[in-house]
Amino acid sequence: MNQDFTPVIGMEVHVELSTKSKMFCSCPADHFHVPPNTHVCPVCLGLPGALPVPNKQAVEDIIKIGLALNCRINLFSKFDRKHYFYPDLPKGYQISQHDQPFCTGGYVELKSGKKIRLTRVHLEEDTGKLIHKTIDGKRVSLVDYNRSSVPLVEIVSEPDISSAEEAKEYLKIIHSTVRFLGVSDADMEKGSMRLEANISVSSDGKLPPYKVEVKNVNSFRYIAAAINYEIARHTRILLQGELPKQETRGYSATLKKTLPQRSKEEAKDYRYFPEPDIPPITLTQEYVADLQSSLPVLPEKVVSTLKDAGFRDDYAQEISKNKEQSKYFFKVTSLIESNKEANLAASAVINNRIDWTKHTPEELVNTIRQQKNRQTLSQEETEKLVDEVIAANPAVVAEYKRGKTTSIEFFVGQVMARSRGQASATLARDLLTLRLQA
Ligand code: ZN
Ligand code: MN
Repeated sequence: MNQDFTPVIGMEVHVELSTKSKMFCSCPADHFHVPPNTHVCPVCLGLPGALPVPNKQAVEDIIKIGLALNCRINLFSKFDRKHYFYPDLPKGYQISQHDQPFCTGGYVELKSGKKIRLTRVHLEEDTGKLIHKTIDGKRVSLVDYNRSSVPLVEIVSEPDISSAEEAKEYLKIIHSTVRFLGVSDADMEKGSMRLEANISVSSDGKLPPYKVEVKNVNSFRYIAAAINYEIARHTRILLQGELPKQETRGYSATLKKTLPQRSKEEAKDYRYFPEPDIPPITLTQEYVADLQSSLPVLPEKVVSTLKDAGFRDDYAQEISKNKEQSKYFFKVTSLIESNKEANLAASAVINNRIDWTKHTPEELVNTIRQQKNRQTLSQEETEKLVDEVIAANPAVVAEYKRGKTTSIEFFVGQVMARSRGQASATLARDLLTLRLQA
């Protein structure tokens, strides 16, 4: 192969905010395990004359996301109508943001130091849900509008991603960020975080003249599999001197491949225009600064802070997965006196020996110190126990002498038991070996 094929991948991530009410009305935004069409009103059903009023909390949440993702926050922004026809979209348009979103630019930094640039982060409303069923032998499609107009944040990246691995890392950072901010549960199984990848493969270092959109994937593993499948497929087509078709595809987890999908917006002309029922939104510098200072420490920062405090990388990563646990360990770092103590404390919690929710950081640190100090039986005391267990088990001694050297573990166990865990197993093993080989 004398050509250099480089995957060019951009991501679009939709995150449903966990606000109490919907984006433009006061209906409850919660729509899981709710009887169909019960959280609806004239606004989210798109009835004529109903007026949308933006949800203040949703605006606050998207600004927090923007700040956490290093975006520029636009003090002036507006909503636009994005038109297309589909039964789950009762108004015939989605209220979204077109040319003046809340957040532009920004980036996500990968562990390698590579920055994935963001194009924009905007606020919009979710659609209803179609449910396909067979009733009385007939195939029917039902519409549930409970999800209609639930606040949705869309995070769009530049095509800076060049592998499935990078895509996965990028997505995991977005996932943990919104969860840390507490603005969404980002549960992919429930569809509160939905992933789309725009994939193409470049054969000349330039941006390819086509792209394939893989839509609505609901796990990190599947999106990585879909990307790898697409990269191989495009490369094969390019090697034949052809260009892959620009299209939308879906991923089948059972077939482990992507399949062409009929796109719901046949015409790509959405006829965007400013939403006439919602005045443009202006934010103040102070408002943004207040939100900035209210942001929690984000996962990557948690990891670097803990590592600086002496925690091992894998422990720091594990701790950072949970915001409360991270806060807890920040307190632990102020109590510990060595890297060893830090990692003993982390290990005790991560390996489920101590439930951190039931102990204060002080108790955790004291417990690991006691465990450390407990192994303080002197060599003399250990020797005494070694003599005792040898004298008490002549049959096992004989076995050992006949060549069954594994019986040493039996003796180590006996010494540990007699010392109630206070002996050092290494020292006991050494002393036993010396004694038994004599
Ligand atoms: Zn409503
Ligand atoms: Mn969208």
